[in-house]
Amino acid sequence: MKSISGLESNKVFKKSQSSDEQPGGDFQPREMHQGDWECADCGAKITELPFKPDADRPIYCRDCWRKRRERFRR
Ligand SMILES: [Zn+2]
Repeated sequence: MKSISGLESNKVFKKSQSSDEQPGGDFQPREMHQGDWECADCGAKITELPFKPDADRPIYCRDCWRKRRERFRR
């Protein structure tokens, strides 16, 4: 396990060296699509999506989307 954490810190160090890249970890501001949708799973209101919604496909809120992805990977 020690070797893994060492590898990770090396990665972070390398990343922080590029001056063009903005610091901020996971959060990357993307183009958001504003609208008024409903989650096809839990019915939660969705006002913006990080991708262009497909009218033929059900739209899921962030929680259900992640749940489905996790289920799909298993
Ligand atoms: Zn949902």
